[in-house]
Amino acid sequence: MMNHVPLWRRIQQQNFTKIDEIIQFLELDAAHIAALDCSPDFVLQLPRRLAEKIQKRTVDDPLFKQFIPLKQEKESYPGFVQDPVQDARFRKAGKLLHKYAERALIVTTGACPMHCRFCFRKNFPYKIDYQSFEKEIAYLKSDSTLSEVLLSGGDPLSLSDATLEHLMNEIAAIDHVQRIRFHTRFPIGIPERIDAGFLTLLEKCSKQIWFIIHTNHKNEFDDAVWMALKKIQMLGIPVLSQTVLLKGVNDSVDALKELMEALINHGVMPYYLHQLDRVQGSGHFEVPPEQGLALIDALLRVLPGYAIPRYVQEVPGMESKTRITTLPSAIT
Ligand SMILES: *Cc1c(COP(=O)(O)O)cnc(C)c1O
Ligand code: SF4
Repeated sequence: MMNHVPLWRRIQQQNFTKIDEIIQFLELDAAHIAALDCSPDFVLQLPRRLAEKIQKRTVDDPLFKQFIPLKQEKESYPGFVQDPVQDARFRKAGKLLHKYAERALIVTTGACPMHCRFCFRKNFPYKIDYQSFEKEIAYLKSDSTLSEVLLSGGDPLSLSDATLEHLMNEIAAIDHVQRIRFHTRFPIGIPERIDAGFLTLLEKCSKQIWFIIHTNHKNEFDDAVWMALKKIQMLGIPVLSQTVLLKGVNDSVDALKELMEALINHGVMPYYLHQLDRVQGSGHFEVPPEQGLALIDALLRVLPGYAIPRYVQEVPGMESKTRITTLPSAIT
């Protein structure tokens, strides 16, 4: 019945998914269109509210660059591969990745409300059985060293409240698990997802929840987004943010400063600034680590200490994310 479909799902159904429609909506001209990839392998998926924040008649916009497929994605760059973070190697049960001590990550779904062109997990074998979480729960139960479970994806908030409730209950029932962590971008694209039903799930959970959003530019925010995040914060759940350093999107002191300022002005803690994972098709987004370090250095001079994200890189085989602090040449 229609009224059983939650509002956020109905909003998601109105996403832009066709290149033709986004061309019309953004009033792009022939030159712009020539730069687009009209049959991308990773399809267009863009909530209306984000499309509305993109400047018309240009391709030079920080949200455009994050979400609209360009022909540049078809170019190959040396070192850019299918699975740069080697998820496959760390898959221990079903959709569960166990890479670091104490923490395991469940790729809960392949679905995302928006498709970021640089997504490092866009080639994940999402076909693997999403119906149940039995294998993942069994693994969590069997390893008493695990104290934290990350719900990631895809976007875990793509799951229905009923599925999330079931999963969270199963996890919370495991004695040695102390914390459940969400990794989501949903509140940025469809803040309506943070509805009464979802908030009740968070509130009822017997384990501490941490909430990590993914944000790359201040234009992604507005009052509705902040309000959704505030409702989560009101439950005593810390909200943190991680950012991917992206050429043409946030590779300037001003862009990063404005982003971090927006976050801390709303009580959201900057967590990580990620060096781009070298996934095929994202070479044009790469910012050299030299520049990343210089940007962090400049931010340190103009922001409170707590507003500076940890600048890190995913190096498969390491026991944690690897901090980028100094360049090899600078150490000598
Ligand atoms: C990044 C990541 C984590 C979490 O690492 P933190 O440093 O605790 O944020 C856990 N598992 C996997 C597979 C990851 O990629
Ligand atoms: S929200 Fe995250 S998982 Fe989804 S497409 Fe963007 S980067 Fe990938």
